[in-house]
Amino acid sequence: MKVVVLFSGGIDSTVVLRLMEQHERLPLAFDYQQPHSIELERAGMICHEQGLLLNVMKLPKMPKINDVVFAGRNAVFLSLAAGFALENGAEKVVIGCNASDHERFPDCRPRFIESMNRALHAAYGVNVEAPLLMSDKRQIVSMADRLGIDLRATWSCYQPTDEGRPCGECLACQVRKDAGAPESRDW
Ligand SMILES: [Zn+2]
Repeated sequence: MKVVVLFSGGIDSTVVLRLMEQHERLPLAFDYQQPHSIELERAGMICHEQGLLLNVMKLPKMPKINDVVFAGRNAVFLSLAAGFALENGAEKVVIGCNASDHERFPDCRPRFIESMNRALHAAYGVNVEAPLLMSDKRQIVSMADRLGIDLRATWSCYQPTDEGRPCGECLACQVRKDAGAPESRDW
C-alpha cells in the first residue's frame, strides 16, 4: 500500500514515518514561509538518509491566530495531501498529531481529525490516520527510543538563532525539553 506521510522533520512525524515503513511511503512537506524554514532542510535530510525523496508543496503565507497557531493549517495540509495521494495512487494520509497538541492546536484534536477523515473519505476515498493521536510527547519520545530512532536528527524550534541553533525558549523547544528528548544536533 502507498501512504502519504505529512513530514516536517520533527519528532512526531519522524516517528510516524518509521511506523509506516512496511508501506511505500511518500513523505510530503509544506513550505508556507514558516520562520523556521530550517525544518524543511532537516526533513529533506532525514528522508534522504532513509532513501526517500521529500515532496515539498509551496503555499502562500498562512494567517496566524496567535503566536503558534496558523489558521486552517492542518485543514489545508490534509486536503492538499489527499489530492497528492489521489494523484499518486495512495490510499491514506498519515499525520503526526498527538495528545500534547490538543490543548493549543484545535486542528490536532480527535474531533477535527475524525471530521477530516470523514470528509476526505467521502469526497475522494482517501483515509486520514493519526497513529499518535492519543500519545503524549513523552510517550512518543520513549517510542522513538524503542524504535532506535536518533531524535537528535529532528528539528522542533520555531525561532532558530541566526547561527541556525534551537532557541531553547519557544513553545516547541520547551515541549521538546519537557518530554526528555535530546537537543537537535548540527548536521
Ligand atoms: Zn525554539
